[in-house]
Amino acid sequence: MKDVVNGSSQGGELLSHRSLNQRTIREPVYGIGIGVHSGEKVRITLRPAKPNTGICFLRTDVTGAVAIPASAEHVADTTLATSIAHGSVSVATVEHLMSALWGLGIDNLLVELSAEEVPIMDGSAAPFIDMIESVGVVEQSQARQFIRITRKIEVNQEDAVASVAPYDGFKAGYTFVANHPVYDQYPKYVEMDFANASYIKHVSGARSFGLEKELAYAQSIQKCLGSSLDNAVGLSDEGVLNEEGLRYNDEFVKHKLLDAIGDLYLLGKPILGAFSGFKSGHALNNKLARAILRCDDAWEIVTLKADIQSGAGMPILHGQIYDQVNSSQG
Ligand SMILES: [Zn+2]
Repeated sequence: MKDVVNGSSQGGELLSHRSLNQRTIREPVYGIGIGVHSGEKVRITLRPAKPNTGICFLRTDVTGAVAIPASAEHVADTTLATSIAHGSVSVATVEHLMSALWGLGIDNLLVELSAEEVPIMDGSAAPFIDMIESVGVVEQSQARQFIRITRKIEVNQEDAVASVAPYDGFKAGYTFVANHPVYDQYPKYVEMDFANASYIKHVSGARSFGLEKELAYAQSIQKCLGSSLDNAVGLSDEGVLNEEGLRYNDEFVKHKLLDAIGDLYLLGKPILGAFSGFKSGHALNNKLARAILRCDDAWEIVTLKADIQSGAGMPILHGQIYDQVNSSQG
């Protein structure tokens, strides 16, 4: 078993979304970190899983615990992070790992945790990408399934809005609405079409962030107990507190995009469509995922057939033919 404790990735692209088949990891790999909200030390072990088993989380510290499917319907709490639960057993802060798994095109995986919360690592998805790249990804025998959006679905919560709409590929746009003028120095909008932009290079490294003065409130509700400048970008009224500065000039809005991608991957399959988020956080992202599951006339499950004429140099997803598997998946 390989072990990876931490690190940052700007590593090679794995062309995950060109993959027509399901994928898992080559061999188990583990890492150690702390939960950002609990402050608790936790060991995370990723294990290969069989085709069509999806992503599941298993608490090894709870006697008799069963694996919890990484599914939008199991989301039990969205206060500052996304947590899933089955009965009385919960797993907290799954979104950055889920985002990394989407980015690498991992369909099947067992995630074992020695405590309740997924480790925060450096606050981004990059350390999870590094862990997985250290053991490698394997293609499996079954075709990968996608959720292809055929009609727009939109949800809102006060002035926040999130939607998915039909699109040939996967595109994601996000507008970050800041609650403090310090954010005005940085871009608040990002849109990426992952046919020609690398998630690993341009999104996975974006860290969690917050205002120094918001931390006291978060800690008063038993959140962010493990938060530090090692796992988040901290901001004072003047600017960034981290000595190393930002990884991207638009790191804040990109982190919100990273979160949304992770929250939506709780649908269990990658989306073919265009996501748009305006001020959308974990609660609204989950509301959108649940709305998608409910509106089963607004999407279909497809696999992708390789288009022989497209050639190897075609952008991800383009030049591929949809093969509808089931138009009324509930
Ligand atoms: Zn986040």
